[in-house]
Amino acid sequence: MNKALANMPATIQIDGSQGEGGGQILRTALALSMITGQAFELINIRAGRKKPGLMRQHLVCVQASQQISQAYVEGAELHSQRLYFAPQHVQSGKYQFQIGSAGSTTLVLQTLLPALLLQNEASDLTISGGTHNPLAPTADFIEHCFLPALEKLGIKVEFKLNKAGFFPIGAGEIQITIQPWQHRNKLNLLDRSTLQSTEAFAAVLNLSEEAQIAQRELATLNKRLNLDTQQQFYLNGISQGNTMYVKVAYTHHIQLFTALGEMRKSAEQIANHLAEQVKQYINSQAVVDEYLADQLLLPLALGQGGEFTAQCISEHTRTQAAMIEKFIDCEIEFIELDRNLFQVKVNLDNKA
Ligand code: ATP
Repeated sequence: MNKALANMPATIQIDGSQGEGGGQILRTALALSMITGQAFELINIRAGRKKPGLMRQHLVCVQASQQISQAYVEGAELHSQRLYFAPQHVQSGKYQFQIGSAGSTTLVLQTLLPALLLQNEASDLTISGGTHNPLAPTADFIEHCFLPALEKLGIKVEFKLNKAGFFPIGAGEIQITIQPWQHRNKLNLLDRSTLQSTEAFAAVLNLSEEAQIAQRELATLNKRLNLDTQQQFYLNGISQGNTMYVKVAYTHHIQLFTALGEMRKSAEQIANHLAEQVKQYINSQAVVDEYLADQLLLPLALGQGGEFTAQCISEHTRTQAAMIEKFIDCEIEFIELDRNLFQVKVNLDNKA
């Protein structure tokens, strides 16, 4: 081990097989390590997945984190199941990262965002790869749901989808400007208040117009959800794909539900499934859906804490809470209020 590391506080040991054993443990460890300056050793990386170890998109998260924090790193190789990461100083600035596959650009963004927010200068990022991936937030979800929710905490991020990227080609591009986080607000999102509008959007990229995919999806969504508006939107890029989203706006919160076209599934099947998710949410009293719930925990723990209600607490959310409590002196509570209604509290009273 090099001499500079001898003075570092003890390394945090993390077992990547805990909880759901996925890539989020790695991304959260990287984010929190860069923020706290604390080194970590992660073993059993993504042990809960069929193909364990670092995949291309996880490796880019490690390399990008290494670059912005000049970290000393061991084990940053494809399929590696052990990683040692010791950050130095996080440097704001202009960065470009290429995943080189359809790996998720938005997950790379979520890895870097917390550390860059806490710098004194703004940062500009361009990340290329996948922008509409299964099992990750789509660019639309980031732009119309995640970032507007962060704005309530005082976080200012500009986001632009330059090119869409679908599996397997990817080649999408997102461009982001992250402003220093100046006024940190406590979140209070227990009540979403009144429904203002329900809108649906659908797009195809480089697929035959004859199949009328987006039109059929919008028609199905309209039948099931009685929409206020429905609209096709334009995507630019070289890959092929189809995506849709429903935006449900309440007085206190905008929630997005997204879906991707799939081989061997009809436009109607995909849209019906999406409509079902939206209906469940509308029929619940929760402010935040399953996914935004896990994505809000870290920003809350870095700000002033706060509370919100969520539709469900996934294994993913519980794993995320455990990771945050490992690095930051805070307490994250999940209280079941009713069926499909949980109160989530991020309490920083212990924070020195
Ligand atoms: P792995 O590679 O280990 O399979 P992963 O790195 O792709 O996992 P997960 O650990 O599964 O990632 O985390 C995926 C992230 O994507 C979570 O933060 C989750 O909230 C988010 N996510 C998944 N599906 C959606 C969706 N439909 N809408 C919004 N966000 C989503």
